[in-house]
Amino acid sequence: MKIRLRDLGEGRQDIGIDQPAAQRELPGCGPLRGELVAERTGDVVLVTGELRFSAELSCSRCLQPFSGTFRQELDLCYRPATAAAAPGKERELSADDLAASEYHRGEIDLWPELREAVLLALPLKPLCREDCRGLCPACGADRNQGDCGCREDRGDHRWDRLRELAGG
Ligand SMILES: [Zn+2]
Ligand SMILES: [Zn+2]
Repeated sequence: MKIRLRDLGEGRQDIGIDQPAAQRELPGCGPLRGELVAERTGDVVLVTGELRFSAELSCSRCLQPFSGTFRQELDLCYRPATAAAAPGKERELSADDLAASEYHRGEIDLWPELREAVLLALPLKPLCREDCRGLCPACGADRNQGDCGCREDRGDHRWDRLRELAGG
């Protein structure tokens, strides 16, 4: 996914993203999509917008595969790569330099930042659903499929109601 500076006029320009994710780098990810806006001022290019994609993950509780849809905001700044600092003379880095990515030979490669955005958007502990009941620690059964019959150590509350009725 590359943008050539000479194809960008000054000012704002829409960039549509629709590209298959490299399965080697982002296994399980569907195509990356998004409507981005590139804004060029001289040599500096800002790219903003939202990236969307779906991914096949496995649930961290029940271990079942599921697919989820994810979004990630992009807010990128590119400036031309500066010539290497002269030996013995370190260039001071400003906050802007640190936040910006450099591009070479008039060509901006969006891929490293898109890849990073995907990794940021993916949850560290994916859940097939918010209330996934996970696997039974005693027998390993998937508790989303039904009650396996094992008792939780926390005690059996089924008798509470009976006691209430009897005592009531
Ligand atoms: Zn699950
Ligand atoms: Zn069980």
